[in-house]
Amino acid sequence: MTRLVLGCIADDFTGASDLANNLVRAGMRVVQTIGVPLEPLAAEVDAVVVALKSRTLPTYEAVAQSLDALHWLLAQGAQQIYFKYCSTFDSTAQGNIGPVTEALMDALEGAPGADFTIATPAFPDNQRTVFKGHLFVGDVLLNESGMQNHPLTPMMDANLVRVLQAQCQRKVGLIDYKVVAQGEAAISARIAELRSQGVGIAIVDAVSNDDLLRLGPALKSMPLVTAGSGVAIGLPANFGLAPSSTASTLPPAKGLQAVVSGSCSLATNRQVRAFMDAGHPALALDPLALMADQLAGIDPAAQALAWAAPHLKNGPVLIYSSADPEAVKAVQAQLGVQAAGALVEHTLAAIARGLVALGVRQLLVAGGETSGACVQALGISQLQIGPQIDPGVPWCHAQSAAAPGEGLHLTLKSGNFGVDEFFTKAFKVWA
Ligand code: ADP
Repeated sequence: MTRLVLGCIADDFTGASDLANNLVRAGMRVVQTIGVPLEPLAAEVDAVVVALKSRTLPTYEAVAQSLDALHWLLAQGAQQIYFKYCSTFDSTAQGNIGPVTEALMDALEGAPGADFTIATPAFPDNQRTVFKGHLFVGDVLLNESGMQNHPLTPMMDANLVRVLQAQCQRKVGLIDYKVVAQGEAAISARIAELRSQGVGIAIVDAVSNDDLLRLGPALKSMPLVTAGSGVAIGLPANFGLAPSSTASTLPPAKGLQAVVSGSCSLATNRQVRAFMDAGHPALALDPLALMADQLAGIDPAAQALAWAAPHLKNGPVLIYSSADPEAVKAVQAQLGVQAAGALVEHTLAAIARGLVALGVRQLLVAGGETSGACVQALGISQLQIGPQIDPGVPWCHAQSAAAPGEGLHLTLKSGNFGVDEFFTKAFKVWA
C-alpha cells in the first residue's frame, strides 16, 4: 500500500529533479515520472514529481497537461499538490505560471482552503531570493540577470506581483519579509487578511532557507502550493518526516561511467574544460560535421561510440557538443536554431542509448532539452531520486529499455547548475 502525501507537477524535466532533490534531502522518498503515468503508482514513496515539458507550450496545452497530472496525483491519494516552476519564474506575458495555477485552483475548488495559494521562486541555495516581491538572481534583479535576453521567456520585470498579476484573473498580493520573519502565526494572519481583501494568490518573500523553513508550517493545510524548488525544504516536516539518509538510498552503483553534454550554458562549458583538464577522454561533436555525415549517409552516433568503446574501461568519458555562444550562433546561422538543436539532441540521445548498450550504467546528461531527448531514447518512464551531487542535481536510478532488468544510475543536470568539477565530482558521490 502506498502512502503518497505530496503530489508535484513540474513544468520541465531538470526542474522536476531539482524539486525531487530538495524533497529527498528533507526526508521524503521520491519518484519522478516522465509525463503523466498511465498506470497507478506502484512504488512505496512519500512524494511523486510528475515531470512535464509545459513551460513554453501554448497555454491551453500546458493547462490540459497540468490538469491531467493533477487528476492522476489525486487518484493516487496525494494530500497536497505542489506546482513547480523555474527559480527565475520563466514565463511569457501570458503565462504559463498564472493560467496553470488558476486552473489547478479551479479544479481543486471545494477542498477547504483551495481559494488561496502562494507563489515564490525563492531558492537561496542557488542564489534566488525574493525581497519586497522582487526576484534577485545573485546580487542583481531578475531583469538585469541575463534573463531579459532569454530567447523564449525573456523576463523584463523583477516585480513578481506585477508579473503574475498580468497572467491571472485572481488578485495577486504579497506576504513580505517582515511577516515571514515572524513565522507561522504571522504568515497565517497575513493570509487571512489577504483573503479578506479578495486576494487569491500571494507572492512570498524569502531571502534565506530560514524563511522557507518558517513558511513551511503555514502551508500545512493549503491544498495547492506553487513555487520553485526552494519551498520544498519546509514541507516534509508537516507530514512528520525528518531528513534521513534512507530517503536517498539507491541500489549500489556499478558499471561503466560516461557524460553526454548538449548544454552550452556557461557553467557547463566550464565543466567540460575542467573534465578535460583532469585528463579524462573527451570527444567534441561539431553540428556542421554531424550534418555533413548525415548527408553522406554516415552514422555519427556509431562513430562516437566506436571512439568511446576502448576508453570506457579506464574511467568516465565525455561526448559533448557544448560550445561557446559565438560558435553556437555560427552553427545556428547555417542550420537554423531549431534544426541545429534537433540534430544535436537526436545525435546525443542515440549516443546515450549506445553507451548504455556498451555497459555504461552511470550516465550524466548535461542540458535540460538534451536530458529530455536522452531520457526518451533510453525508454525511461520513472526515476527514483537519490543523493545530491550539487544543489538542484541528484543521482537517480531508473529502469531503461536500453538495459532491460538491470537498472541504470542517471543524473540530469540543468545547464547552469553544478561546480566546475561536476563531471568528475558526480562519480565520486558513491566513493
Ligand atoms: P541548457 O540546460 O544549458 O539550456 P539544453 O540541452 O536545454 O541546455 O539546450 C541546449 C540546446 O542547444 C539543445 O537544443 C542542444 O541540442 C543545442 N546545442 C547543443 N550544442 C550545440 C551547438 N554546438 N550548436 C548549436 N546548438 C547546440
